[in-house]
Amino acid sequence: MLNKQRLLTPGPTPLPEEVRLAMARDMVHHRKPAFLPVMQDVRAGLKYLFGTSQEVMPLSCSGTGAMAAAVTNLFAPGEKILCIEGGKFGERWGEICDMHGQVAVRMPVEWGTAVDPEAVRAALDADPGIKGVCVQASETSTGVLHPVKELAQVTGGIGGRDVLLVVDGISAVGISPCPMDEWELDCLLTGSQKGLMLPPGLAFIACSDKAWAKCAKVRPSNFYFQLMGEREKIAKNQTMFTSSVGLLVGLRESLKLFQEFGLENLFRKQWALTMMARAGAAAMGLELLAKDRFTWGLTAIRMPLGVDGSAVVKAAANDYGVVLAAGQGHMKDQVVRLGHMGHVDFGDVLAGLAAFRAAFTASGGFVGCPDVLEQAMNAYAKAMESGPPAK
Ligand SMILES: *Cc1c(COP(=O)(O)O)cnc(C)c1O
Repeated sequence: MLNKQRLLTPGPTPLPEEVRLAMARDMVHHRKPAFLPVMQDVRAGLKYLFGTSQEVMPLSCSGTGAMAAAVTNLFAPGEKILCIEGGKFGERWGEICDMHGQVAVRMPVEWGTAVDPEAVRAALDADPGIKGVCVQASETSTGVLHPVKELAQVTGGIGGRDVLLVVDGISAVGISPCPMDEWELDCLLTGSQKGLMLPPGLAFIACSDKAWAKCAKVRPSNFYFQLMGEREKIAKNQTMFTSSVGLLVGLRESLKLFQEFGLENLFRKQWALTMMARAGAAAMGLELLAKDRFTWGLTAIRMPLGVDGSAVVKAAANDYGVVLAAGQGHMKDQVVRLGHMGHVDFGDVLAGLAAFRAAFTASGGFVGCPDVLEQAMNAYAKAMESGPPAK
């Protein structure tokens, strides 16, 4: 092995040493006193991370499990849900509804663009039967940031009926601002392997008072995912079924890091890494899939005609140990995604851009600009100084 492996994918991500060491310790029993302080710390840390005073419940599953839990606990079979489909993960909402009997009203959005809140308002006005809107805060397949704050104003402001806004924050929570209470999101969920600097295997979900009121009226159709039951248990520092002890012990450490550094500082870093990646791609003369509303944890770069994105990803891994991600769905070979979430810094992104450039050139691409990496570093330094734009 000549090179270190650098995991620059939109999850899983590299892990801090504190997290890895904590997870190496021996097991504790999830129903014995030694586990209670772990859960106590985790509960407080998750509330900080989500920006909520509600309980944030850990579920033993990948992120999709929390998506399924949201749909099956907040909506009864037969109820209509508006599903925002601007990418692979948006499409998943409809697939979950189809399987569990909720009726998906699909709103297609062109890949690479964000949903228009006014279009959502019009769809809700047109169909008074719609009980919820499901959306991604960050659509990881395209790198687009949907305007969930504005969507909450639409769903919250609709008179005479309750429409719940369910937000998949899987590549947003801990990466870019998504404060649940301040933005009045009804349900926010995420997974462990994206922004949280943890291995895959845990998901997290929180509900507003309005969502809990609805939850109380819906009989969950899945035995394993019962949010009301989980809420009762977490008040006692427990989970309904065997807790993912090893991951929760790691989570306690990653949440400690979030609290020590402060979310604002982490968001500044994420913003600067995003500016850096975008500047690097632009200097190479490449187009980005997400133009205006882009996520802060990955950069989706369009491949010019004749360059196969999957070949670029393969060459970067083989020749440089840099693990990138190809596109998804119909854009599989047309896009390369450079992940910059989790425990990564400017050095990783620099390595990512350098490996990408070499792999891109080896795959038939052309880069004329001689100082791509310098331009990227300058963009990073400038963005670290200015910070992200005011909300
Ligand atoms: C990764 C991801 C998922 C899927 O999560 P799994 O952990 O693979 O189940 C869903 N939504 C978004 C936005 C994601 O980034």
